[in-house]
Amino acid sequence: MKRLFALFAAVVLTAISPALAAPKAGDVIIRHVTVIDVEGAKTLAGQAVVLRGGDIVAVGDDAGIAKQWRAKRMVDGKGRYLIPGLWDMHVHFGGGVDLIEENKALLPLYIANGITTIRDCSGDLADQVLAWRGAIANGDLFGPRLLTSGAKIEGIAPVWKGTIEVGGDADVDAALARLTTRDKVDFVKITDNTLKPELFLYALRRAKALGIRTSGHIPMALTVDQAVDAGISSIEHLDYAYNAGAKDEAAIAADFAAGRIDRAEANRRLGAGFDRDTAMAAYRRFAAKGVSVTPTLNGSRILDYLDRDDHSKDAGLAYIGPKLRKTYDWRIERAAKADAAAIAARHAQSDAVGAILPMLVEAGVPIIAGTDAGFLNSFNYPGFGLHDEIELYVQKGLTAAQALASATRAGPAWFGWLDRYGAIKPGMAADLVLLDRNPLDDIAATRAIDTVIVRGEVQDRGALDEMLADTRAKVAAWNAEAASR
Ligand SMILES: [Zn+2]
Repeated sequence: MKRLFALFAAVVLTAISPALAAPKAGDVIIRHVTVIDVEGAKTLAGQAVVLRGGDIVAVGDDAGIAKQWRAKRMVDGKGRYLIPGLWDMHVHFGGGVDLIEENKALLPLYIANGITTIRDCSGDLADQVLAWRGAIANGDLFGPRLLTSGAKIEGIAPVWKGTIEVGGDADVDAALARLTTRDKVDFVKITDNTLKPELFLYALRRAKALGIRTSGHIPMALTVDQAVDAGISSIEHLDYAYNAGAKDEAAIAADFAAGRIDRAEANRRLGAGFDRDTAMAAYRRFAAKGVSVTPTLNGSRILDYLDRDDHSKDAGLAYIGPKLRKTYDWRIERAAKADAAAIAARHAQSDAVGAILPMLVEAGVPIIAGTDAGFLNSFNYPGFGLHDEIELYVQKGLTAAQALASATRAGPAWFGWLDRYGAIKPGMAADLVLLDRNPLDDIAATRAIDTVIVRGEVQDRGALDEMLADTRAKVAAWNAEAASR
């Protein structure tokens, strides 16, 4: 009877007062924090977030969570703001096998900047990047979650190294078979240096049939709509989306395809023919077809203003090894050859292209934050560049919430993974960034990083500073070695 009563009492106590039940165990608890609901563009003050392994297991009012949960590690979120981990959806690794170590030293820069996932859009080190992807996932290499296209699909003998060269339909089929089965790539990248336009469209259609996402540069001989109709999933670089706004785009594409005009003349006519109504109609078709745009404005801004901006004292240079730095020369030399008229045209084009960003948003096109950071792309610093990128979005007319969503939700949305990334709630990945200021008030607050949590592992300010110091030390040693030769 006594025992029965005790059992009864225990049941009643548990039912009426869950606080008296044994606390549940987590690994990390972030207390007294303001959670940013990126989707709802709002803040939730006084929250606690519990992590276990690589997962968020509980989120709620701080007092309630503190009663129910215990964790080995407490992170003080008082006065701070918690956002989902940032994604840079357009980065590169490459420059040849001699540059593998210098490229590898870039990985911690992403984490130190709050970036928990990167999408590699192909370079000339595809097998190396595939190996890093696996090593990071296994915990053998420290870095952000790495998603990659593997080698990109190109035409025969393109300017880009390390591509899969295709000259006919059978080559495209073989390339896609290799990428999807051997390399198990996360998406396919297709560019337009020597690739025949009809093969570009064929590759898009075949990839779509295989259920793999595509991203790429659209050949000048095609209209953007042709690529959209063939099933392209994301358009890289804002310029290509801009071209869809030219009234006579089809005639320009036909003239270019027939060899009647060169690329410069085609670009001049595309700019002259830009029309707001034509552009909005095109962007509504992008939205209807589920096509996203990755603007890479940071990359274009740097290249368009190389004539004016002095980068020789950039703090970011301390993170770039001497061989990677050398890959910058190609674009610097090309820019130096431009005359005053070409420079003025480039500046005007840069402004005109940037102005379509709010139009895309108005049309409902998802904007994916991506920097184009990596080898060749001068002064576009891995990790740091994403903060520049999303600040540019706000300068062009996006709200801070829209810019933040482009770097936290648009990436996972593109992959179909919003059930796991891009929000702070139970069941989501424990990829988080704790900020000293509210990014919804000022997007520059994404730079004010106190702590980064990646796959549930806490990297406090001290650890982040160590990562940065580590890469700086490596670069300094490489520079000293290069100078002594
Ligand atoms: Zn790129």
